[in-house]
Amino acid sequence: MCYIICVNNLQNEIINTKKIYRELFKNAQAAVDKQLAGLKTASLCNHCTKDCSIDFNNITVFDKFPKDCRYRFWQEAAVDKLENRISKDVLEKIKEIDLKRGQYSCSCCGSCCRLASSEYSFEELQQRAKNGDKFSQEFVSVFVPYKSKDEPRKLFPDYIELLEKTFKGEELYFYYCPKLGTDGLCTDYKNRPDICRIFPSDPLVVFPMKCAYNQWKQEVEITALTLHAIIDVVGYYREKINQAMAD
Ligand code: SF4
Ligand code: SF4
Repeated sequence: MCYIICVNNLQNEIINTKKIYRELFKNAQAAVDKQLAGLKTASLCNHCTKDCSIDFNNITVFDKFPKDCRYRFWQEAAVDKLENRISKDVLEKIKEIDLKRGQYSCSCCGSCCRLASSEYSFEELQQRAKNGDKFSQEFVSVFVPYKSKDEPRKLFPDYIELLEKTFKGEELYFYYCPKLGTDGLCTDYKNRPDICRIFPSDPLVVFPMKCAYNQWKQEVEITALTLHAIIDVVGYYREKINQAMAD
């Protein structure tokens, strides 16, 4: 939710990040494929039917197998691997990234309090808050919308232009927190909500140039992107295998 950054750097960052992500996704997919293929074994087949046309060499874990076919064990093992091994490894790595964040401290520049953006209007955020969404509850408890889009546009013209280009066709809303003091410090520090306490928790969001956590971001960004790619692959594979196994 932070927003002061050199536009040219940001534009390059977005383009490069997309390219890198595509590459990381391909690598993650190949690594997961290899692990799942390693679980496949020809000995699973007990020749339950004579006219079975399943070709061991050409089956994939996403194929639909007959109800009693033992290749369903392969699919079960694959789901177990995705859920209980790969996902746990990812969680461990995420914890490591978080621990590294603890090596840096906020410099209290106030940038993340001056401009927050969301795809939701204030009314939508209020509705989400009423529906129990914790992030929205905390967000509307501190942030208020700028009176007009001209205000943040005057403060952060290039960045807002870039955001609008990047999220072409999507509406974006801009907010600020009135609790930020003129000295750049939070006037309600003790009571600030968790979204303020944990910011920035995701190294994949754009940080303000002044943010003291930029070094952490640089240090862990590729790992975080890789984990993101693995999570995407795992989610997609789980769904496909479960669909194949559904009767
Ligand atoms: S409550 Fe304090 S820390 Fe949170 S956004 Fe407002 S000024 Fe910043
Ligand atoms: S250093 Fe980062 S987290 Fe701290 S106030 Fe500045 S932008 Fe926010």
